[in-house]
Amino acid sequence: MEYLFGKEMQPKIVKKGLIDNCEKEVTSFELNSQRFREIKLVNTKECPICKYKKFESFAKVRDLSWVVCLNCTHHFALKYPDANNLKLFYEEYSDDGKLEPYRIEDDGTLKYRLENVDKPKYESITKIKGRAGSWLDIGAGLGNMLHLAKNDGWDVCGLELSQFQADYAKEKYNIDLIQKDVIPFYNEDATKTFDVITAIGYLDLIEDPIHSLSIIRKMIKKDGLLVVSTPNANSFSAKLLQLWPESTIRLCTPVDRSLFTEKSLTYALREAGFEPFKCWYFGLDYFDLFLHLSIKNTEFKNSEAGRILLESFNEFQAVIDKNKLSDGMIIYSRANA
Ligand SMILES: [Zn+2]
Repeated sequence: MEYLFGKEMQPKIVKKGLIDNCEKEVTSFELNSQRFREIKLVNTKECPICKYKKFESFAKVRDLSWVVCLNCTHHFALKYPDANNLKLFYEEYSDDGKLEPYRIEDDGTLKYRLENVDKPKYESITKIKGRAGSWLDIGAGLGNMLHLAKNDGWDVCGLELSQFQADYAKEKYNIDLIQKDVIPFYNEDATKTFDVITAIGYLDLIEDPIHSLSIIRKMIKKDGLLVVSTPNANSFSAKLLQLWPESTIRLCTPVDRSLFTEKSLTYALREAGFEPFKCWYFGLDYFDLFLHLSIKNTEFKNSEAGRILLESFNEFQAVIDKNKLSDGMIIYSRANA
């Protein structure tokens, strides 16, 4: 495995909305956790990745328990709704925007996000797969990644369940996202294949990552590239969460189902017929520390100490990244013959 470490970021720009509203975020997370606990939850009996049946406690986040698989180190929510109840939950609560992962920021912030969050990821992919071909983005969000690819001549296709985000992609980039999950999308026409498939922040939300990855395997061209990104359970942020679960607002949200480690993610990819060859660690762990402290003491974010932490973010974070303790990771894989 080849490793890459770090990505420059200015959280004070890209996360301005979150910083300004961090106390409100906590309230919203508490409310959504409560709503989530009110629906029928089912006990998970085995690790969703390796099927091992022994696990130990990782953390209790707003009364929802998270455990660690003692075999493959995968972290997952111990109780989760079945597919029907989950659908009902989303239908009931998605209208007020509380479940949307992104706030719509002003144009300047969006431009910064496109240049500094999406573009480096996009370029890491085109560096490997230079010539424009076909690109499928699963969980396409606001359509930023596909917008960049489309501008470079890629033939793009995106799947996104959220109406709100699909509307945004249409209005902002004139990209028609398909509101389907990957399995029904494949079943509709099993002949379509892609040169690049990306799933940034998708595998951590679904019931059976290996099954979905096996379907993705059928849709990738022989020399195609799969790029997946998930939060990292072996991270400084995850250790902060264990210490202060009441003020976490980035990891283990109520609708999250899995928190991968590099070990459990590469296990899942190999099981599904992929060979991972490159892993990029980068994250916002020091920003996460900033958020915890800002929630604990409302004066922190406007204090001199808070300012130093934010101003020096990239230097602090570089130490975390080079030790593979970042809260984010991207893994690049090729399909096995
Ligand atoms: Zn496992």
